[in-house]
Amino acid sequence: MQNYIERQWALCLEDFSKYITSVGMDLWINPLQPITIENDKLVLVAPSEMARTQIYNVYLKRMKEVLKTHFNLEDITVLIPEEKDDYIAQFSERHPNENNVNMVTKTATVKNPFNPRYTFDNFVIGTTNQVIYAAARAVAESPAVRFNPLFIYGGVGLGKTHLLHAIGNYIWEHKTSNINIVYVTCEQFTNAFVEAIRERHEKGMDAFHKLYRQADVLLIDDIQFISNKKSVQEEFFNTFNDLYQAGKQIIISSDRPPKDIATLEERLRSRFASGFIQDIQPPDFETRLLIIQKKIELERFEFEKGMDYELAERLSALNIREMEAILRKIYFLANLHGKTVATHEDMEEVLEKEGEPAPASNSKITKEKIIATVCKYFTIDQKDLTGRKRNKEIVEPRQICIYLMWSLLAIPLATIGQIFGRDHTTIIHARDKIMEMTKSNKQMKKTVNELISELKNGE
Ligand code: ADP
Ligand code: MG
Repeated sequence: MQNYIERQWALCLEDFSKYITSVGMDLWINPLQPITIENDKLVLVAPSEMARTQIYNVYLKRMKEVLKTHFNLEDITVLIPEEKDDYIAQFSERHPNENNVNMVTKTATVKNPFNPRYTFDNFVIGTTNQVIYAAARAVAESPAVRFNPLFIYGGVGLGKTHLLHAIGNYIWEHKTSNINIVYVTCEQFTNAFVEAIRERHEKGMDAFHKLYRQADVLLIDDIQFISNKKSVQEEFFNTFNDLYQAGKQIIISSDRPPKDIATLEERLRSRFASGFIQDIQPPDFETRLLIIQKKIELERFEFEKGMDYELAERLSALNIREMEAILRKIYFLANLHGKTVATHEDMEEVLEKEGEPAPASNSKITKEKIIATVCKYFTIDQKDLTGRKRNKEIVEPRQICIYLMWSLLAIPLATIGQIFGRDHTTIIHARDKIMEMTKSNKQMKKTVNELISELKNGE
């Protein structure tokens, strides 16, 4: 029934727009929400008394003609929002067998509630978020088939809300049926529940249940704020169970894993554990670079060449939201200076104000310093590092040392060969091996990163 109404109403709207100005459409017609058909009348909800008057006084005749074509109906009933709940209640008394629930779910006139910028397309994938991206995507493509519940956790500003909205946007755009997607922050859920209780009114609680327990897909953001009030946890648990048992998809985000949410009841924790739990890590250099480039493109900023690399390097301590803020400030400042392309000076001015470090001056790093730092890190002798020993405890640090000299100082391979008394091919082999390992081996990546930060920050 509801699908039929939506479909036919969409045809009516198309017809109206041939006769009614776009302002008239936007103001009066598009906001109308068809909710049901009763006694050969299409029942519509208008946003206000004024809108209703307008419909009756100005558009009624045209509306009847169009309805005749697409619904084979001759008349309408227009309600205003304050009347809607009573109408629905009475409707279900009059027609106990009709599924009146659909009457309050989304119709064609309801706009997509998700942030249009938070899509999968706008989400940059890197090594630190690719697993969760793939899981979110799978859930959006076929809800409640795999990964249920999906639990996403990670520090602030790393893309949790973005992914939740991306799932919502995707399902919304691809939905063929009247699938009910509900997004709520944990705080909103709690407040709505407390409010419903306070009303001491069956209707309040009913509406609350309807909203959450009739979701086909429920997205809950920032679950870490779940209160330790027993009643809220109980309600949440019941909602969760109802949906889960009915085969509905649940997606949850949090700033920490379930085991670290102190207020979370054990039984909820174990429910979460039955699904898929995955973290998002802060972005690494390549991901930061891609994100910066993506933001510049999306916001249509123009930045001088090379600034993206430099920012990716220097903003390593920031989360993505903070990175975005810096990009905006730089562009804003450039505009303030009357430029359309932001320059390195704008960047320095902003970073200085923000207290970001000046670029680590690589000139302080020397080959002697690299040797000393590597030796200290692995507690080995400098003589051994540059000597002939071939045991693993020496060979790997030596290769790392070669890699660092090549990548940080761009020392020619032949010169590095002289330092270590080895031929060119051995040096190339060492460099390639470590370069490869920093990509495939987490431990190696960590070691190299620690050495680099030691070299940049250490005395
Ligand atoms: P969280 O909910 O984890 O605190 P958000 O989802 O609000 O973080 O993300 C903060 C900002 O960073 C948003 O503007 C979002 O679009 C952006 N962002 C996060 N991750 C990515 C990503 N991988 N690609 C592009 N933008 C991202
Ligand atoms: Mg968030």
